[in-house]
Amino acid sequence: MTYRYTDPDGHEIETAPETHWGGEPVVTIRARGNGATIPVRIPLDRLEEFIAGARDAGRQAARQEQHAPATTTGLVVQPYRTDRGDPAWVFRCWGTDSCDGWLSLDHTSQQSAERARDRHVAEEHGGDPR
Ligand SMILES: [Zn+2]
Repeated sequence: MTYRYTDPDGHEIETAPETHWGGEPVVTIRARGNGATIPVRIPLDRLEEFIAGARDAGRQAARQEQHAPATTTGLVVQPYRTDRGDPAWVFRCWGTDSCDGWLSLDHTSQQSAERARDRHVAEEHGGDPR
């Protein structure tokens, strides 16, 4: 059985059962991309170690996402000048998995734009800024 995973850049990992020198059974992982193929052979007695390491890396990545600063959520409140040159505030949501985004212009104060943000988060994000 062969398992393949392709990332959004088109780089591929393929795993396949093989035997190495001397007939030792291994799982070979081939990474393909940019015209190169690199085989990595993992002996069966090290396979669980590899999978556990990958799982730990995934958990660490998930924790880093949870603790990402608010600026990465795509919620922005900032001052700007209107077409007539008047000072104003804008609230913008750049969207999430479940929100298509939102643009709220022409607020006369930062507090007004922040109220629009808080209302949007409560109504469209279920209260979660992410
Ligand atoms: Zn949103």
